[in-house]
Amino acid sequence: MAASTSDGGSVKQSNNSTSEDTEPSTEEFCPGFKDVDAFVKHGLGAVVAATKASACLPQAGDEFDFYRSFPGFQDFCAIQGDRLLQTMSQLMQHYGCSSLMKDRNKLTGLEDRFDLVVESNDVVLEKVGIMLDEASGMNRSQPVMPTGYQPPKIVVSSWNRKVRGRGAQTFCLLQAKNIQRPQLKFKEKVDNSNTPFVSKIFIKPNATKPLPSCEPEDLDVPAALADFIHQLRTQEHMDDMFSHPYQYELDHLVMPQHLGHKPEPQMYKPLAETSCKFIDTLEDLVALNEKLAKTTEFAVDLEHHSYRSFLGITCLMQISTREEDFIIDALELRSEMNVLNESFTDPTIIKVFHGADLDIEWLQKDFGVYVVNMFDTHQAARSLNLGRNSLDHLLKVFCDVDSNKRYQLADWRIRPLPGEMLQYAQADTHYLLYVYDRLRADLFDAANGQPSLVQVVWSKSKDLCLKKYVKPIFTEDSYMELYRKQKKSFNSQQLMAFRLLYSWRDKMAREEDESTGYVLPNHMMMKIAEELPKEPQGIVACCNPTPPLVRQQLNELHQLIKQAREIPLLKGVNGSRHVLQTPDITFYLTILVSASFSSCPHRNPNQRWSPVL
Ligand code: AMP
Ligand code: MN
Ligand code: ZN
Repeated sequence: MAASTSDGGSVKQSNNSTSEDTEPSTEEFCPGFKDVDAFVKHGLGAVVAATKASACLPQAGDEFDFYRSFPGFQDFCAIQGDRLLQTMSQLMQHYGCSSLMKDRNKLTGLEDRFDLVVESNDVVLEKVGIMLDEASGMNRSQPVMPTGYQPPKIVVSSWNRKVRGRGAQTFCLLQAKNIQRPQLKFKEKVDNSNTPFVSKIFIKPNATKPLPSCEPEDLDVPAALADFIHQLRTQEHMDDMFSHPYQYELDHLVMPQHLGHKPEPQMYKPLAETSCKFIDTLEDLVALNEKLAKTTEFAVDLEHHSYRSFLGITCLMQISTREEDFIIDALELRSEMNVLNESFTDPTIIKVFHGADLDIEWLQKDFGVYVVNMFDTHQAARSLNLGRNSLDHLLKVFCDVDSNKRYQLADWRIRPLPGEMLQYAQADTHYLLYVYDRLRADLFDAANGQPSLVQVVWSKSKDLCLKKYVKPIFTEDSYMELYRKQKKSFNSQQLMAFRLLYSWRDKMAREEDESTGYVLPNHMMMKIAEELPKEPQGIVACCNPTPPLVRQQLNELHQLIKQAREIPLLKGVNGSRHVLQTPDITFYLTILVSASFSSCPHRNPNQRWSPVL
């Protein structure tokens, strides 16, 4: 599309002109079509015909059951159904979306599959938008930095956010080279060790079930019995350590009564008239928490950075009440953010998020903050079958606001934050409470005035609150997951190289606190493993641009490749286990035991704690 429209006005050729009365075009737009218009005309005709034909099919609940009693009709439906699913699957895969359409016998996943189609539509429409922007001369492939903000040196790095099958998406990330690593200023060092995540909560506000005490009480019982009790407690303690601190409260939470009534949407204040306070001191954070504790609802969003850190860093938190907007510097206040647990876990206050899945994990990972009583507008949009569930879309429909997601991938570690990025961040929560009102009203309408759909959305949101952050754990088998996704067929030497590189990359990323994508992007790792370069320079040749840590560790990497070349050559290893080491159970045990010794999640720092295993 971009290529065909790059010549601007020529796209708008008259449809009446035939190929005879115009100069024969040097290149067809695509086989059989001379230009975009011809293609679109044909495409549109086909879509209209298909829509008409499908409208003529016997409808469910109407004649459908009668027709279905004929085996010929049944077979026809099955074959055509399969064809349709396959075509949709291929289309979705082509656009890099996950596609689970193949298993048509599995009726249970119908709703999920419908969601997949909706999500794919979002992706396709987004791509169309980007291409149209490109065609009109705007470059959206890189996040735009605000005008006037000139980071001294800029490098454009490919950033592998998600590795999803063959459609792995690569994002360009604009990154200012001179940004100081925020990790250096963190009071509590980041724990990249290969051990499971342990909750960071020490004080549990709004608890109906208190945090388990870590201090074994002095018991006036015989020694053997004391030992036995102690062992039981230790086991219980181990369970607690990895459980969700608010599991009990969330399990017993009931939907607030006022959600059972259809709301009258309360219009948002104009953005320009709303105060937006930037919070970077503990004093202001405490004041904000007190203010929030007096409200009945507020909106929350987060901005996160994951390129120059192993586990990622939450950089910003945006909060909006009906009256005011707040932006919290989560880098500056990282160790203090947990004061917000008071309002975030207050079951009488609704926290409104849009697409909270990752936010819930980031809050736990970076701050030990949990959410009790949440409403996710993304879940609401899904339940309403709006066709598109993104926040941009909701803002357009409900607020007639053209939000521009161009700073979504900006480097949120930048300080001081440029005005345009602050405005962008503010807009992410500013309208959210109004969107929440509108969606709830629509949910009532869709359920004939009943609260049933609101209840469903609220429950789904509660399930999201129950999600636990899981740290990436490296095992001897981890590399196989990535290998299988790449759909390549490596011989034993290539696979060994891949395994060694994968392990080296994980180790480096943890030690240097960088993302694996920064240390060595997937496609470069695949290329090195595929080529098995004999010389160090061959490794460099596989990487363009060469990642700094690859350059620094070139000899080490060269040795790894050499080691891989020395094993016997077996062709086409498809991931079966004969060259693999099966995961070692002692490995998992080591993780568990070391974790239990390394820290106690609920420890009062002033108390001593000694586990007995
Ligand atoms: P949002 O909720 O849209 O403000 O996004 C929150 C954070 O999620 C951003 O700061 C990014 O770190 C991350 N994020 C959102 N969308 C994408 C995307 N398409 N690719 C990579 N990261 C994203
Ligand atoms: Mn968000
Ligand atoms: Zn956001």
